[in-house]
Amino acid sequence: MSVKDKIRYLKEEIAKIAKSDMQIMEVCGTHTMGLAKHGIRAMLPSNIKIISGPGCPVCVSGQGDIGVAINLAKRSGITVATFGDMLKVPSKGETLLGMPNVKVVYSPMEALAYAKNNKDQEVVFLGIGFETTAPLIAATIVAADRDNVTNFSVFSVHKTVPEALKIICSDKSSNISNLLLPGHVSAITGSNYFEFLRETKTRGVIAGFDPLGIMESIYLLVKMFNDGCVDIINNLTNVVTPAGNEKALALLDKIFKPTDSYWRGIGMIPRSGLEIRLDFSAYDAKVKFDLSVEDISEPAGCRCGDILMGKIIPPKCVHFGKGCTPLSPIGPCMVSSEGTCAAYYKYNV
Ligand code: SF4
Repeated sequence: MSVKDKIRYLKEEIAKIAKSDMQIMEVCGTHTMGLAKHGIRAMLPSNIKIISGPGCPVCVSGQGDIGVAINLAKRSGITVATFGDMLKVPSKGETLLGMPNVKVVYSPMEALAYAKNNKDQEVVFLGIGFETTAPLIAATIVAADRDNVTNFSVFSVHKTVPEALKIICSDKSSNISNLLLPGHVSAITGSNYFEFLRETKTRGVIAGFDPLGIMESIYLLVKMFNDGCVDIINNLTNVVTPAGNEKALALLDKIFKPTDSYWRGIGMIPRSGLEIRLDFSAYDAKVKFDLSVEDISEPAGCRCGDILMGKIIPPKCVHFGKGCTPLSPIGPCMVSSEGTCAAYYKYNV
């Protein structure tokens, strides 16, 4: 059977077995784009709704954190190194885009190399992302320490998934008890990482990013839902093991410890962020530059918070496609290439 035929078969099987209304949340931003790009929502019967969750790291970063990065970039002698998707995220009407002291990099190691070659500058890497990217940044801090690079540091606003999911899955108004779980994160953490979901009676399937992997995983969720079964299924066994990537997890633990973190749309979540341990505080920009994060309210009318909690879909926002487009975004869900609003706009979902 070709991939196309398998997808068609799964589409028919899902339609046959989907008897009741069911809501599925995709946790990962890459799934958000995959679902939109491959038109998967349109392949599902009308009683199966797929909504987006808090899996886009750019989208869940607080405006206060973005503001810290912007203020750092204004200081003489400091270069802020960042992934490109952070450039257009606004905070109090400003962005990093076009600022002279901002360098776009493709990896934290590139930022470290830049620091080595520009000793007259303090280079601060903007550390944004989940369990997937944090080990790379941990490895970069280890390398900076080994090579004694004293003009490099990281502003860590990393987040970890479990505590946010606990809040979303316990929120009765969201009605989320079925999750497409992130393949990238699971490759690092392992599938056992998501066992806590059973406590909130939430079923989950760790899914790949190709359309067949997504459709298979949706089928498994619908089947579990019908059977009244709550389980965590690993549908990506070629890359995800139960215990995860031990080397990456050891690196994470060596450099970072859990800390409270502010999530856009959800608020402060205890132990949902990663802070650089005291032993490596020389590489912690918060310590080095005595940074404090301002509390900044959301842009008027922007519903990113409700979108990240799975409470609404983008067209319900009054700005969607009118005042807010990828060329002139108001909120982070339209800025990020993995943002839900950007996906709905680009693929006309
Ligand atoms: S359409 Fe724009 S303003 Fe509305 S929720 Fe999305 S990002 Fe925010």
